[in-house]
Amino acid sequence: MSWAAHDLEPYLFRAKLGGAVSLPLCLIGSYSPDIATKWAVYGLGWSGHEKLVDDPVQLHRGFPGVGFTHSLGFALLIGALIFALSRNWIWVFSFVLGAWAHVFSDTLDSVGVMLFWPLTDWHLHLDVWQYVGQAGRKEDAIAYYTSLGGVWDVLWAVWLAFHWRMFTAHHFHTEIVPRDTFWLWLRTKASDGVMLTIYRASAFFGVASIIGWYVWALFINDFQAALDWSLGGPQWAPRIGPP
Ligand SMILES: [Zn+2]
Repeated sequence: MSWAAHDLEPYLFRAKLGGAVSLPLCLIGSYSPDIATKWAVYGLGWSGHEKLVDDPVQLHRGFPGVGFTHSLGFALLIGALIFALSRNWIWVFSFVLGAWAHVFSDTLDSVGVMLFWPLTDWHLHLDVWQYVGQAGRKEDAIAYYTSLGGVWDVLWAVWLAFHWRMFTAHHFHTEIVPRDTFWLWLRTKASDGVMLTIYRASAFFGVASIIGWYVWALFINDFQAALDWSLGGPQWAPRIGPP
C-alpha cells in the first residue's frame, strides 16, 4: 500500500490538468479504496497489535473481502453514481482519476490489487516493496518508510514542492475557486479561512505524515530498522503475496 502518496497525488493532477480536475472530488476518489477498511486491516491498539480479523490481507485486497474497492471497475461504478446525482462530468472524471491513481499506486507492493475485478480476481503486483499491513500500523510504517515505499511518497512531496504557488491564497481564490462548482457552492456556506484550510489540509497532512513517520521509522521505535532500498524490501519483512 502507499501512504502519503494518496494524499498528494490529486494536487499534482490539479496542477497539471487545471480546471478539468476538481480537487475535492479527486481527493475523495483517492481516499475511497481504503477509507472504510484500513482500520480493520490494522487492528486495534497502539502499544500492542490486536488483530480484528483472521486474514487482513484477504480482507483488504481479496474477494471475498473488500479488495474490490481497489479495482478499476469499482471506481467507474461510483463515478456513474456521482454522474446520476450531479450530472457533473468534471466531478466524475476527478473521482475516477483519484481512485485509479490509488489503485495503480497499490500495484507497487507485493500483494497488489484485483485490477479487473469482477472479471477476474487476478492481482497485479509489481513487488517494488513488501506489503506489511497484516503486522499492524506501527510495523507497517517502519517497513514502508525504510523501503522504496517511502521514496515513492517523498517523490510526490518533492514534485508538489515545485508547485508551492498553488497553495497561496491568491492562487486559490483566482484559479481554484472560480473553476470548480464545489468551491462556488462551499463559498455560500463557509468563510475564506475555512475554505483555504480545507483546500490545503490533505497536502499538509501528507507532508507532515512523511516527516513524522520517517522520524518514527528511523529513530524512535525500538526496532531500529535501517533504510533498505532494495527491490521488494525491506528484506526482514515476511514475504506476503496475493491472497
Ligand atoms: Zn489502498
